[in-house]
Amino acid sequence: MSDHTELSASLFARASAVTPGGVNSPVRAFRAVGGTPRFMASGDGCHITDVDGNTYLDLVCSWGPMLLGHAHPEVTAAVQAAVSRGTSYGTPTQAEVELGEEIVARTPVEKVRLVSSGTEATMSALRLARGATGRAKIVKFAGCYHGHVDALLAQAGSGVITLGIPGTPGVTEATTADTIVLPYNDQAAVTEAFAQYGDQIAAVITEASPGNMGVVPPVDNFNAFLARTCKENGALFISDEVMTGFRITRSGWYGVDGVKPDLMTFGKVMGGGFPAAAFGGRADLMSHLAPEGSVYQAGTLSGNPIATTAGLTTLRLATDEVYARLDQTSATIQRLVATALEKEGVPYVIQAAGNLFSVFFVESSEAPVTGAQQIRDFAGASAQVLPRFAAFFHAMLDAGVYLPPSAFEAWFVSAAIDDDALAKLETALATAARAAA
Ligand code: PLP
Repeated sequence: MSDHTELSASLFARASAVTPGGVNSPVRAFRAVGGTPRFMASGDGCHITDVDGNTYLDLVCSWGPMLLGHAHPEVTAAVQAAVSRGTSYGTPTQAEVELGEEIVARTPVEKVRLVSSGTEATMSALRLARGATGRAKIVKFAGCYHGHVDALLAQAGSGVITLGIPGTPGVTEATTADTIVLPYNDQAAVTEAFAQYGDQIAAVITEASPGNMGVVPPVDNFNAFLARTCKENGALFISDEVMTGFRITRSGWYGVDGVKPDLMTFGKVMGGGFPAAAFGGRADLMSHLAPEGSVYQAGTLSGNPIATTAGLTTLRLATDEVYARLDQTSATIQRLVATALEKEGVPYVIQAAGNLFSVFFVESSEAPVTGAQQIRDFAGASAQVLPRFAAFFHAMLDAGVYLPPSAFEAWFVSAAIDDDALAKLETALATAARAAA
């Protein structure tokens, strides 16, 4: 139970004096749900503990990376050994070669370049797509979030929706002039955009299965349609698997729909809790990158030996059994949530993409869960009853379960969740469902 929050409150006050909003990434600030953000002091398995000593079952997992749970002994040991050998050399190292090989083995990319954040990955993939095609325009979908890349901060998801910001000051019209924003899952809109601008479109970028407007999977073979449309028009299909990559299956959403993109982006899980991300794709496209080609991209800490060691160790431990366990845990949690909300008559929709899922609090209780996918795009995701989510979130927090502090995010499970944790969750859900009613 989170009875005491004095130390978090005091740190938040100090943080607010030196950092905008008191946080280093906006969704951490609890703006959408209100209250004091908890300052975490430690993590162990599926739990995190704050500075006041409250322990929570963690269903955020650092927004995805902590697939195996916190402080996994093997990851910790590998990182400690790597640190003791030095932390950065600015030269190639063996761990980054092995991480590159692991990514190439798990996914359809033929070559990969390591960077330090998902934002860098998508930004670099766009530059490469524009450089390789000699075209300027990019298609993205409303509600998809690809990091805080200027050209992609147009109707973006995640913290941008959470804070109710349609675009962002500082991103000039010129910067997004070549960005075409379309409704997600809307084939007709894509066809129309290509009819109008077909020979100017460098790439279509999409989250492989969006999780940043809540989980809104592609319907009607949308990714296959995008890949085909791009191919027919000489554009590139970029699948952003920063959130889904190595989380949903050994590869990511690619392991579910098998649609081969021209370029892909990865992050989160592949860094094992450290800043590591990547973009990759067809060898002929990747050869446009410097020093082989002339599209410039670089990074002082790219392929950092500690981050690559953490990521490589995490991926090597993420076996098929781990993914089966994640699927099972996720299904159990979805069932527990559904049962608790139904008992209290709270209208909801749960949507899942593999083990990633979101709980949407909706207006009407008709036909929840079953049947055709209810929420197909950003407009659908935006029709949530936000105060109900806030009440639910705080009741869960008080009962010791840490959920994403926004109605527009996925819930992340770790392989460390055990039966005790699920029992704690079930108890918390009973109270939270009443609070949301
Ligand atoms: N792409 C997707 C799909 C994401 O979910 C995110 C982050 O949440 C990013 C890109 C940006 O990654 P980062 O926060 O590491 O810059």
